[in-house]
Formats: sequence, structure tokens, C-alpha cells
Amino acid sequence: MARDIATELIHHPYQPPAGFEAPQGAVHKASTIIFANVAALRSRDWRHKTGYTYGLHGTPTTFALEERIATLEGGRECVLVPSGLAAVALVGQALLSQGDEVLLPDNVYGPSLNFAKGELARWGITHRLYDPLDVAAFAAMLGPQTRLVWLEAPGSVSMEFPDLAGLAAAARARGITTALDNTWGAGIALRGFEHGIDIVMQALTKYPSGGGDVLMGSVVTQDAALHERIKLTHMRLGLGVAANDCELVLRSLGTLPLRYAAQDAAGRALAVWLGTQPEVVQVLHPALPGSPGHAHWQRHCTAAAGLFSVMLDERFSTAQVDAFVDALRLFRLGYSWAGPISLVVPYDLAGLRSPQAAQRPHLRGHLVRFSVGFEAVADLQADLAQALQTALR
Ligand SMILES: *Cc1c(COP(=O)(O)O)cnc(C)c1O
Repeated sequence: MARDIATELIHHPYQPPAGFEAPQGAVHKASTIIFANVAALRSRDWRHKTGYTYGLHGTPTTFALEERIATLEGGRECVLVPSGLAAVALVGQALLSQGDEVLLPDNVYGPSLNFAKGELARWGITHRLYDPLDVAAFAAMLGPQTRLVWLEAPGSVSMEFPDLAGLAAAARARGITTALDNTWGAGIALRGFEHGIDIVMQALTKYPSGGGDVLMGSVVTQDAALHERIKLTHMRLGLGVAANDCELVLRSLGTLPLRYAAQDAAGRALAVWLGTQPEVVQVLHPALPGSPGHAHWQRHCTAAAGLFSVMLDERFSTAQVDAFVDALRLFRLGYSWAGPISLVVPYDLAGLRSPQAAQRPHLRGHLVRFSVGFEAVADLQADLAQALQTALR
């Protein structure tokens, strides 16, 4: 008997063509995955990637991206989550229990601190902030309750670059797990496992996506037992990523080193030029001498992201600084970075840092952060010059 068209449209005879090779792989989408028989259903194991069982537990598309991000970071296993912040949260949820303590650098990505304050605290997990530029003081803070240490190199917004290997070694000596937020390094400027770090997390939203149009995060490990703990929590929380978002990141990964190098060169050129302007009292770019932690950057990295901040003189009012930012035309006002459009954000450090951290001498004045896109450097410099002229001279 001929089947109804409704049935035929679902049970179509399509098979991917054998021998079809193309630069990009196919995009595989599924919640349901069909098993040939009950024996196959009972025997398949999603945990070790030996078979497909359900969309949340992996598809050829998520496995392909996981493999490539693990390779990028120099790790063995990767899990994907819907945002960079979800990756931070997953690590905390997988590794911390009531009574534990997590240490965060005092220049940590703001929403990571909010996660500790808002969620971990409710679950009886405490946190303290450490000075990322003081390894001895950090080592002295490590206690029997300390179960996890977050590292960022450089820290968000104020861009201090820590002695990453020194911090990791101090934690390792006490048997404490370390996790690096490697969004800035992107596996290009910095590879955490080479510096003794246990977990490397990244907001794929930034460099790996590169388009300003995808949200995704990754958690990479080398140790199989650590991966298993994270993977099981990931499964129990029901975290998954969309195949079409994976496709966009996979498509962008091939140009990651080129994009990183181009934005590095443009960022350094603009940061150096801004440093020569009388309104700028401090440039916060780890690859430039005079930036806090520059010597540490030299020891850990050869490249830098196209991201930097400047301190504008404290003689300006907040309204004048806001007018400078509003006068920019090519630098658009918005969060995130590593996309094609240059971005700018003025930050109020008082609301972002502990009182001691906000009072460091290199943070005197008004902080403005720039993310450099793919526009011509000369045009970006002209934009900065006209905005300085309009608002601050
Ligand atoms: C953007 C960012 C994140 C979070 O990524 P989302 O995908 O936006 O949640 C985490 N850490 C750092 C350092 C970031 O810059």
C-alpha cells in the first residue's frame, strides 16, 4: 500500500552521498536519535562518545566542535554550554559543595563574581578575592576549605596580567583545582595546560565565534576523572548547544589565528597612539611596557587580544568622559569583543572592584575599554582623535 505523503515527507529515502567531501561538515540536528533495535538502545554509551543516544548527549556536530576546541586549548576533552558564563557556572556546580571555598582574582569577569555572590553563596559555598599580582599573599590564603581557584590572564577590564604559572603552582602544591578563564588568550596567545592549570574555560562567544552573533562556552580538561565530573553535571543540568550555533563557530575557527593576529596588531597600534595623547594617563594593555603585569605577559605569551583599556585623567568629569564615548562614530557602544565592529565601554570601577583593588595607582581616573574590530587602523585612530578633540579639548 502506498504511504501517505505526510509519512513520506518524514520517512524520505535521503542518504548523505557517499564520497561527498566538502570544506564544511554537515550540520546534524536531533533531539531524538533512532536506534536500530533494543539491543542497540541498551548498549550505547554516550559518556565515552562511542555512540549517539539523545541530542543533549551529543551529535556529530557537537562532537566535531568539542574535538576542535579541545585541540585548540591543548586539552583532551571538552563540553559545550550555551554561554561563557554558563561555562563558569558549570565548573562551580560540578566541583563545589556546601562548606567549600572558591578563590577569585579581584579583577575577575564581573558576572563570574555575581555567580559566586548570588548562587554559590546560597548553596553554602563561600568565595574570597585575591590580588592576582601577589603570589605570596595568594598562597597564604589557600586553606583546607579552598577547593577551586579561578584564574584570569589578564583580568577583565583593568587588564592586569598575573604570574599565572606561579599562581597555578601554589594551588597545585596544596592539591587545589585551578580553572583558567581563557577567553582573552583564546588558545592562541595562551594555553593554560602548559602552565599547570587543570581546567580551561572559554567564552566561544568572543574569538572563536568572531562574528558578534553567537553565544557559547567551553570547558576543556586533560584529566579524565575531572572531565567525567564536569560531564555528568553538564548532563544532569540539561545543558546543550544548538547545531546551527556550532556550525557558525566551526566555520569561524579556520580564520581564528588570522583574526587574532590582525586584531592584536591593530589593538597595539591604537593603544600606543592613545598613550601619547595628553588626556590618557595610563594604558592598560598587557603587551605594552608600563602596563601592570607586563613582565608576566612576556613570560607567558607572544600575542595579545585586540582588547585594551585606558585611564583618562581624573580632572575630567564623568559627563565629559561620557561625551567622549558618545562622540565616537566607528567604535560602537556595546559589551563583548572580538567581533568585526570596534566597541567601547566606559566602566565605573568603584562598582566593579573591591575598594582596595579600585584604589590601585594605575586605576586612578576614568576607565574606558576598547575592543578593536576589522576597520582600517587609520580610520579608527582618526575616530579617537576627533572624539578627544570634540569632548576633552
Ligand atoms: C564575555 C566573557 C565571558 C562570558 O561569556 P558570555 O558568552 O558572554 O556569557 C566570560 N569571561 C570573560 C573573560 C569574558 O570576557
